[in-house]
Amino acid sequence: MPILVARDLVKVYQRGSSEVRAVDGVTLNVEAGEFMAIMGRSGSGKTTLLDLLGCLLRPTSGALEIDGRSAIGASDGELATIRRERIGFVFQEFNLIPTLTALENVLLPLRYGPRRPDRQARATELLELVGLGSRTSHRPTELSGGEQQRVAIARSLVNEPAVILADEPTGELDSATSDTLMETLRSLHRDRQVTIIIVTHDAGIAGRTDRVVRLSDGRVVADERRDEPGFDRALADKPAANGHGGRVWAGVR
Ligand code: ADP
Ligand code: MG
Repeated sequence: MPILVARDLVKVYQRGSSEVRAVDGVTLNVEAGEFMAIMGRSGSGKTTLLDLLGCLLRPTSGALEIDGRSAIGASDGELATIRRERIGFVFQEFNLIPTLTALENVLLPLRYGPRRPDRQARATELLELVGLGSRTSHRPTELSGGEQQRVAIARSLVNEPAVILADEPTGELDSATSDTLMETLRSLHRDRQVTIIIVTHDAGIAGRTDRVVRLSDGRVVADERRDEPGFDRALADKPAANGHGGRVWAGVR
């Protein structure tokens, strides 16, 4: 069964009297255990789509199921529960609390759930898993960018989510550090069968996953898997079929 099912998802933002169709009819199935990328230029709707999939935003229209459960009719409280229990978020800017240690940052999401006696051990284990076993009592300023992002990844795993959503997770990192981070994500995927969706504008990052969904003007214009012919074509930096030529970007359809 798919972990995520999006059908004809649309998100329209009002901007003064005009509207922006940031996500314009996206249909997408994500199977449990996929390691995939959503790739597109700046402004193509990647963050909006990820925020819809993560229930941080409500769609203007369309259907969304997470782990077999519809997110459409859910109340704000129910959406908060879905986010907390089923989804792990990783952001470009790490979003760690500067006054807390690495361990305390990883423990943070557990504050809102049921009490678990093994929380400390579990957070420590996750930091070890991302290679930071010797950094548990460091604060974010005492860690490199790559280490901070690995703390954020450990934090995203602490509630055992069904899926990790990462928005430009390597955006603040140099290319060598990005490579290491992608290896960390790859090994989490391989060893723990974690479902991971990475948003990126970088074909090099997207090409390290197993499936690349390409967005342009809020629409899916390619969806290729590594084991299918044409995987490389999805990564080629060609103008997309319905690119910026025809339709007025902020136009009302
Ligand atoms: P990406 O992450 O691919 O750069 P975004 O999802 O951030 O794309 O944005 C897609 C489009 O929606 C852009 O035109 C952007 O300006 C617009 N947009 C994003 N967020 C908002 C918002 N809160 N209000 C109005 N327009 C927005
Ligand atoms: Mg973005």
